[in-house]
Amino acid sequence: MLDQDDGEGCRMNAVRGREIDTVIGNLEFDPVALKRKYEQERDKRIVPEGHDQYVPTIEGRFADYGKDPWVSPGFSRAALNDHTEVIVAGGGFGGLLVGARLREAGVTDVRIIDEAGDFGGTWYWNRYPGAMCDIEAHIYMPLLEELNHAPRHRYAYAPEMLELSRKIGERYGLYDKACFQTVITEARWLEDQKQWLIETDRGDRMTANHFVLACGRQSLPKLPGIAGIGDFEGHAFHSSRWDYAYTGGSADDARLTGLRDKRVAVIGTGATAVQIVPEVAKWARELFVFQRTPSAVYIRGQRETPPDYADMSKPGWQKERRENFQKILGAKPQDVDYVADGWTELTVRMKPVLSSRELAARLNRKPTPEEHEFVAEISDYRVMNAIRTRVEEIVKDPSTAEALKPWYRWLCKRPCFHDDYLDAFNRPSVHLVDTGGRGVEQFTRHGIVVDGHEYKVDCAIFATGFEAGISYVRLTGFDVVGREGRRLSEHWRNGVRTLHGITTDNFPNLLLVGGNQHSVAAVNAVHLLDEQATHVAYIIQQAGERRLQAIEPTTEAVDAYTEIIRSAPANKVLVNFYSSCTPGYYNGEGKGAKSEDLFFGNRYGGGAMAFYQMLADWRRENNLEGMALR
Ligand code: NDP
Repeated sequence: MLDQDDGEGCRMNAVRGREIDTVIGNLEFDPVALKRKYEQERDKRIVPEGHDQYVPTIEGRFADYGKDPWVSPGFSRAALNDHTEVIVAGGGFGGLLVGARLREAGVTDVRIIDEAGDFGGTWYWNRYPGAMCDIEAHIYMPLLEELNHAPRHRYAYAPEMLELSRKIGERYGLYDKACFQTVITEARWLEDQKQWLIETDRGDRMTANHFVLACGRQSLPKLPGIAGIGDFEGHAFHSSRWDYAYTGGSADDARLTGLRDKRVAVIGTGATAVQIVPEVAKWARELFVFQRTPSAVYIRGQRETPPDYADMSKPGWQKERRENFQKILGAKPQDVDYVADGWTELTVRMKPVLSSRELAARLNRKPTPEEHEFVAEISDYRVMNAIRTRVEEIVKDPSTAEALKPWYRWLCKRPCFHDDYLDAFNRPSVHLVDTGGRGVEQFTRHGIVVDGHEYKVDCAIFATGFEAGISYVRLTGFDVVGREGRRLSEHWRNGVRTLHGITTDNFPNLLLVGGNQHSVAAVNAVHLLDEQATHVAYIIQQAGERRLQAIEPTTEAVDAYTEIIRSAPANKVLVNFYSSCTPGYYNGEGKGAKSEDLFFGNRYGGGAMAFYQMLADWRRENNLEGMALR
């Protein structure tokens, strides 16, 4: 029943009527009470420090947490003083796709530089037990068709991802000039030579005609700034630097025999912890999972892929499958759902949230914004109710089950999918330590304190995520210096300015790929990377074909595109949505008041497929519109 005296109740009642009630059907719950519960749960978690509650691992006293465990110490090589047509910063899937698409476009002189000891990016660093991608492998893994690689599981595990990265490096000749264990310290445009000068921590002074930034967006591990964290005398590491020497096993064989006699803490319950907990639970003498906010964990449906899992015979099959997934996520009805998993199922159940067209069809008229929002909320409550019911069905102890229920809208946090996470809490050796939204209180020399109780542990595993919503300079560790000594950090001081999220004025022959602002928030990040890589390869290939020394967008073109982004109504909708969400990196830890503060903010408003189409149309015109050519 709706409470007539309540402001929310009045708002909801105001939009209700026979028409809307026909769309939403009988309500099996009280939406006003649920909304209030969500607000209370959010308010409990607001931390005034926002992002500053975390401490970095790339510098300072916790720098050891960020060290590369996958290389042997002592690597050295002679400094390089040479020229390459294209230098790419970043050897993850973004950089690899740029390298591959360049080669296909006839540009073969490419050097990829990465701090890591090999290609792979995310999948180089994250080798924790159980690591897998929660997007279907057939649409996530890059270049499957080109490499004729059939994923072994519906959701590929990290070792297969690394194996594929190496395959791509070999197939496209990207190892030839690659520089690993190398950190770029400065990138400077030399106007007189029309080249980039790239300097590194190995004393290199390399030049290139084109410079591509493919540095990902969440690669710097962070720790919670908990009192006493530096005093802990037990073993400790971050999830992205897994210490198999301590736990036993390896990334390929997660028999964590070293934990058999250990009391282990996992701190955090985000997408990473959801994958780690079931694995550690199998081996640790005791496992304590410290939770601040529960994840929304739906069915995974992981399985091996038999040869007939997907039809990989038709040319263009991967593109078609990716687009089919993206269209379903964009609420565009499709005759077939190739992926047919939790992502597509729950999106379809949320359809009215995403598609006002669908709602208009049901009402036989254009819905008001209030009607749209109300129907959206109801669909969302139903999806989250199903997720909460799943917790009750799986977790046997009622108080543990209650604590594992998430109270926020589905897309407020990264949705999770796992078949074994919730069940892990049925093991007598696994204890959920729910911190009531406040987080861990303190570390002692031998344990972790919550509510005044000390949990003695031998090992603490921080699954506490990565720095997010940070500037390019912070992410890459160097500033990019364009024409007339202009720094990218300064150029973007008042916000990102680009053409298509890929080029920016005053920075000739500089190209950006990844999930930076001005592109789209793609659930399948590799789909976005591939579209961007194709675009970057086209621009560089055209520069060569037209014998251009320098190519950059005009200030007018950048202004116009930036205005398209700034005025996109979708960005305002996002601000409203995330302001009601429980804190996390998606909404600036609850402090995201402007679109620019949001992880997915400041995006192309038309959605992913429209963005890809816009890029493709621009290339098809073949006149490099908006670019100044020299
Ligand atoms: P997240 O930032 O998502 O999660 C960090 C976790 O640490 C949260 O549960 C957070 O709680 C918790 N935490 C932070 N501070 C404290 C504290 N003081 N006390 C207790 N808990 C605390 O990091 P992840 O590594 O899990 O995931 C990062 C991103 O990586 C994901 O969002 C996703 O994009 C990606 N990822 C993707 C996967 C895939 O399959 N594609 C798999 C794994 C990760 P709170 O929520 O309250 O802030």
